[in-house]
Amino acid sequence: RTVYVNGDYLPENEAKVSIFDRGFLMADGVYEVTSVIDGKLIDFDGHAKRLERSLNELNMPHPISMDDLLKVHRELVRINEIEEGMIYLQITRGAPDDRDFVFPDPETTPCTIVLFTQNKPGLADSPAAKKGMKVISIEDQRWGRRDIKTVQLLYPSMGKMMAKAAGADDAWMVEDGAVTEGTSNNAYIVRGNTIITRQLSNDILHGITRAAVLRFAKEAQMTVEERAFTIEEAQGADEAFITSASTFVMPVVEIDGAALGDGTPGPVSARLREIYLDESRKAAI
Ligand code: PMP
Repeated sequence: RTVYVNGDYLPENEAKVSIFDRGFLMADGVYEVTSVIDGKLIDFDGHAKRLERSLNELNMPHPISMDDLLKVHRELVRINEIEEGMIYLQITRGAPDDRDFVFPDPETTPCTIVLFTQNKPGLADSPAAKKGMKVISIEDQRWGRRDIKTVQLLYPSMGKMMAKAAGADDAWMVEDGAVTEGTSNNAYIVRGNTIITRQLSNDILHGITRAAVLRFAKEAQMTVEERAFTIEEAQGADEAFITSASTFVMPVVEIDGAALGDGTPGPVSARLREIYLDESRKAAI
């Protein structure tokens, strides 16, 4: 694989980042994942805008213009011949001379910027989407600024391991009795023609896929309710699903051991996945 590090395109085994990098020492960094279908970028603008917002919220400089960022994404897709997959982008507050909690001066410590591709043939036509996934619920023990897409992914990673240990695919996190989101995705339930998902706040990541799916749902005359829901309500729902840039719309068929409906993906989730993929393909750049 050819990767991008601070302006250079290099073979992955030649790419290097300092041991003093604040991303490594302090998880002081932000990231984005953009999917690629038909060799094109899905919702690049949405990801670029959220990246800008994450950088602003953490008082990090913007080390690269959005135009150049698009060029780097496209160049990596081209060099690595990605038809279906993802592009991972990470920006950290760089590598000062020594470890220190105080933010370094951006004039003397430039940000570190890294991008790499992940080749995933068959991403759009995933068999997992036909089977649906099982989730368990766990307590949400993350920090209070989940709207910023930081690289502090230890708790979500532990959540994924708890799900695996329980024979499930993922975990939905619960705070004050209500579901916040999945470990790496937004969570939804369906009742009749109504899609229910938690309202935006600092408690969840403002999913780029979420924004698109809610828009498509409204265009398809579905009702959208942005509000919190409990695990009990979810277990009694007609359907459930998750969204993320790497899974698109993925049906959920079991929550804490309780099957939803007949335990197979429901029609609303399947339809939303189809609409999302069709529309995203058309708008890809
Ligand atoms: N919530 C969390 C906690 C996530 O990590 C992600 C994906 N990175 C999402 C939601 C979904 O966001 P998006 O649709 O922008 O991928």
